[in-house]
Amino acid sequence: MLRACVIGWPVEHSRSPLIHRYWLKQYGIAGAYEKEAVRPEDFSAFVASLAARGYVGANVTLPHKEAALHAAESADEAAVAIGAANTLWLDPDETLHASNTDAYGFMTNLDEQVPGWNAGGRPAMVLGAGGAARAIVHGLKEAGVSRILIANRTRDRAEALATEFGPHVTVVDWEDRNRNLSGCGLLVNATSLGMTGKERLDIDLAALPVDAVVADIVYSPLETELLAAARARGNRVVDGLGMLLHQAVPGFERWFGVRPEVTPELRAHVAASLGGA
Ligand code: NAP
Repeated sequence: MLRACVIGWPVEHSRSPLIHRYWLKQYGIAGAYEKEAVRPEDFSAFVASLAARGYVGANVTLPHKEAALHAAESADEAAVAIGAANTLWLDPDETLHASNTDAYGFMTNLDEQVPGWNAGGRPAMVLGAGGAARAIVHGLKEAGVSRILIANRTRDRAEALATEFGPHVTVVDWEDRNRNLSGCGLLVNATSLGMTGKERLDIDLAALPVDAVVADIVYSPLETELLAAARARGNRVVDGLGMLLHQAVPGFERWFGVRPEVTPELRAHVAASLGGA
């Protein structure tokens, strides 16, 4: 039986088992997908023993994504550019490979939900400069967005990101986020603000064009305050669940040999666990 897992600390909140077990059942695969709570100090040893534990690969969530990249013997271009990995798999000769599928997940979902979202070639604003923001900046850059504005509470972190990702990326002060929305075609919340149990995202959308797209990668709650405010003024909105579902696709294919589909039924299945549809 093929087995994979999600490794995190904590890991209890992870929705990955819900997604992968759904697909295992859907495609009639005799596989298993487990949750593994692994402390940071135990991560390297755990990953080194993946094969001995009977796993063919794993998803990796906070706080291990950077360590996962370093633990792998090979990494794809996205993982190297983002500086973190969320998907690991073993070759038959037990070589450990790493990928980062967050950029793929975000961009695939954006393309699917709002085809032609970049038609006007306008700037995009990304809120945040953490791991998820890095993945989104990478994805937007690869998609040809020529100007990406980054606003982050800790400006140094945004500066570091801009230095790495090059001249397409401009840092704006967190305090200036509202007025810099003027002329943007896309706004992405890639902070943890607005997530259940965290502080609310304080933003005024008045300067954002009403034909811009607003995406929130927070998926709990599904309809964040940001998305509700954007929807109310006529902006097209993209929630964080689509990204979560799509980022899972490449890992499942690597481990279990079938490229799974993100269907409305899968979305409803996971949305039910988030208290929404
Ligand atoms: P992270 O590396 O810890 O980054 C957190 C970001 O949020 C940083 O930019 C941080 O700013 C900002 N932030 C936190 N508290 C803040 C506050 N009180 N005021 C202003 N900014 C604040 O986390 P991450 O991995 O990037 O994840 C960010 C969010 O994305 C999480 O909610 C996560 O669940 C979600 N996510 C969703 C998906 C998906 O598939 N939908 C995938 C990955 C992540 P500082 O730099 O100033 O600390």
